[in-house]
Amino acid sequence: MKILVTGGAGFIGSNVVDAFVENGFEVAVLDNLSTGKKENLNTKAKFYNADLRDRNALEKVFKEFKPEIVNHHAAQIDVRKSVEDPVFDAEINIVGSTNLFQLAVKYEVKRVVFASTGGALYGEPKVLPANEDTPIEPLSPYGVAKYCVENYLNYFKRLYGIERVILRYANVYGPRQDPLGEAGVISIFTGRILEGKPVFIFGDGTQTRDFIYVEDVVNANLLAIDGNEGVYNIGTGVETSVNDIVKVFEEVLERKIQVEYLPPRKGEVYRIALDYTKAKQSLGFEPTYTLKEGIKKTIEWYIRNL
Ligand code: NAD
Repeated sequence: MKILVTGGAGFIGSNVVDAFVENGFEVAVLDNLSTGKKENLNTKAKFYNADLRDRNALEKVFKEFKPEIVNHHAAQIDVRKSVEDPVFDAEINIVGSTNLFQLAVKYEVKRVVFASTGGALYGEPKVLPANEDTPIEPLSPYGVAKYCVENYLNYFKRLYGIERVILRYANVYGPRQDPLGEAGVISIFTGRILEGKPVFIFGDGTQTRDFIYVEDVVNANLLAIDGNEGVYNIGTGVETSVNDIVKVFEEVLERKIQVEYLPPRKGEVYRIALDYTKAKQSLGFEPTYTLKEGIKKTIEWYIRNL
């Protein structure tokens, strides 16, 4: 089976690629290395340095590699950037994705697996954890774009029968996440703590997220290769406050962490957690890492690699 992984030089995509290669799939990576890194590339996977916005470059990849499955992780992932420049976000996340799907139809790809978001889709849900029927009320263009792409996939399914599995991730963390990036509080904290610097918390730290270790997300991608089609939340169902994250770091490292509180940031969700019951019933997905285990593994990886 041939799988094309877009964004396969990035944090989640590269972990997914490693698992696909280990499981004996023939894998190619499509990435423009904008936030992805060469050192994340699996040497057993073919690499295409191409941009989602460049249709000719994309078409060459489909013509040559002829994927049976497209696993779509490439994206502009910075939520705040999407607020500042919604057009830039839409060019990559909506138009780029649509380029990809049109070619997937043309080259008779069987299935598309899409890395969507649960964290940025449901706004401030009245009931937590949020399930897939929770009203869609994104607070950022990033969330709007992800939902738009989900709808394109549903449209391509209706018209052309191309299968789709949509994975709505919670807050993913673990090895290879960029500690200098905007996305991951756990990697940012890890980077600062290992450099002996205080961590910053925006607001009072009572805001909550659903943190899922990347290996559990990789497992969801393995299950999505031939599991039932559908839209699935991929999270743990557990709400953890940013203050509690600091406590877990203190437990793992057995020392006090210095915290500086800054004014809250606009446009950020206050509380979120994702109900993964549907993914459990239909895909057989179940998260296996506790936050403490995941944070411990993440710290160990950063110490070895940075
Ligand atoms: P990442 O930035 O590490 O990975 C994104 C990859 O896409 C990078 O390798 C980047 O170089 C590539 N890319 C960006 N623009 C591109 C373009 N125009 N053409 C080709 N390649 C391009 O981020 P990540 O955290 O690994 O996210 C992977 C996917 O998972 C994204 O679609 C993201 O929206 C989604 N997601 C992530 C999280 C999370 O918590 N990290 C949560 C929900 C959804």
